[in-house]
Amino acid sequence: MNKDEMINCVEQAFRERQFRLYFQPQYNHTNGRMIGAEALVRWIHPQHGIQMPGDFISLFESEGYITRLDLYVFEELCKFQRDCLDHHIDTVPISFNVSRHDLYLENFIDNMEIIRKKYNLPVNFLRVEISESAAVGGNEYLAKIVEKFHSLGYIVEMDDFGSGYSSLSVLKDVEVDIIKLDMIFLRGKIGGRGGIIISSIVRMANWLKTPVIVEGVEMIAQADYMKSIGCEYIQGYLYSKPVPEDEFIKLLNEVKKDVATPYMKFIDTLNAEKFWDPETMETLIFNNFVSAAAIFSYENGEIEMLRVNEKYLKELYMNLNQKEIIIDHKSLDLDEKNKKIYIDTVKRAIESNDYETCETWRNIHSPCCGEDKLCIKTVLQVIGRAESQYLFFATIQNITMGKNMYMNLYNNEKKFRTAGEQLNIYCWEYEIETKEMRPCSRCIRDLGLAPLIKNYPEPVIESGLFPADYADMYRDWHRQLENGAKSLDAIIPLTTDRIPFHVRYSAEFDENGRPYKAYGSATFVPNEK
Ligand code: C2E
Ligand code: CA
Ligand code: CA
Repeated sequence: MNKDEMINCVEQAFRERQFRLYFQPQYNHTNGRMIGAEALVRWIHPQHGIQMPGDFISLFESEGYITRLDLYVFEELCKFQRDCLDHHIDTVPISFNVSRHDLYLENFIDNMEIIRKKYNLPVNFLRVEISESAAVGGNEYLAKIVEKFHSLGYIVEMDDFGSGYSSLSVLKDVEVDIIKLDMIFLRGKIGGRGGIIISSIVRMANWLKTPVIVEGVEMIAQADYMKSIGCEYIQGYLYSKPVPEDEFIKLLNEVKKDVATPYMKFIDTLNAEKFWDPETMETLIFNNFVSAAAIFSYENGEIEMLRVNEKYLKELYMNLNQKEIIIDHKSLDLDEKNKKIYIDTVKRAIESNDYETCETWRNIHSPCCGEDKLCIKTVLQVIGRAESQYLFFATIQNITMGKNMYMNLYNNEKKFRTAGEQLNIYCWEYEIETKEMRPCSRCIRDLGLAPLIKNYPEPVIESGLFPADYADMYRDWHRQLENGAKSLDAIIPLTTDRIPFHVRYSAEFDENGRPYKAYGSATFVPNEK
């Protein structure tokens, strides 16, 4: 049929009720349950057969028939739902399409309400689909319309989301309840650019606690992919084409039902949504945070970086950019052993609902600096959660330098202790600030000392290892060490047997010249007995 033919028989079509509703069910891909359906109009022309909406909707819009058609469809839908209720058919909420032309008519919603009341149909059996293109009249106007629908109890869906009418700004201003996303972005290339766009939209919708129904899903791989990125509600040929009333009733009778619920739930005390708003204090803090911070998601043993701040890049000092970290380094460059440490910490944080800390070594590769091994201290906490997915906030600190220094020290200490063994001397380390003493293995073995002695030297004075007449002198030595003495030495008769030993201390200082550690040794002096 050409346009003129159509226009010529529109009146007759309305009179003879040639417009018929088809229903396309929507499913939860996780459990196969029906969550709703969409009513789609068909024009069953007695001579020309079924006419698809794609062929006449825009004509109806330009010729001024669209509102009449939409109210017709709405009435048929109310009638259908009323029949289901009367015949105890376990129906689902069904959405219907509202053209943007309808929205500019003052009494459109009032007319809807008159029809709905005529059938005494509770509003929760209906859902309104507004195309994103309705926002051309301005977000503010659309927001008011949605508000009005909400005040009457309607669930409002944003249809064809992402089709190009400044989607993001619409979402910011218009509080829709469900987003409908068309698979068209993904045609033929799952995981490509389309995939990145779709997954970002789904994530964003999740942060907004807005469920997403993805339309036009034809292949199981597409449905699985959508589920993997957090969108499990599917409408498409994979499950069912739009079907006439009798077939839809069969579907209603055979499948289990479910409801569409927000995917990601946030922990109340922390408003994670704000992390995604560029104008909030949270973002300001995040970006200018003194610490290197990241937001990542965790699901089934896998980490995915979602956002990192500038400090995070600096902390890794590998000349990487945020994108590279999010795309290439999202697995955090951990080997098996370190990954286990990290994941265990993540699990602990989920359990404790509190901050947890770990230190892991990472193999970072960057184009300019090549390979490097970094030791990263991470403090992390859960800030959001879905069924099996968690959102984390983490701060990191590059402690490689300190760690290497510690390793050197540890190795030196080991050497020191071994040397002690071989040179027939007793030695120990004294932590000046904490007054902790760590004896060598020989002291532990021969003198029965504990591996760590607190409040040194009191316990050894008490035990008689240091004779009472030398106790005050020995206490004074430790005070001198505190005050910066570089070295001390004297012959002291040790143990209850008063065996003469040459006891020495030499202190170590930090870069500010403050003493922090002293090494003590005691060497047997044979001829002084
Ligand atoms: P829409 O609202 O985006 O509806 C979805 C369209 O995608 C439907 O086309 C549906 O049959 C089709 N579709 C669903 N699953 C798949 C799939 O897996 N693969 C493919 N290739 N297509 C799929 P349909 O029924 O031809 O409707 C086209 C458009 O006409 C609708 O797009 C809607 O904008 C408009 N329309 C339909 N009924 C009405 C109505 O009662 N009022 C108004 N104003 N517009 C309507
Ligand atoms: Ca639609
Ligand atoms: Ca659509």
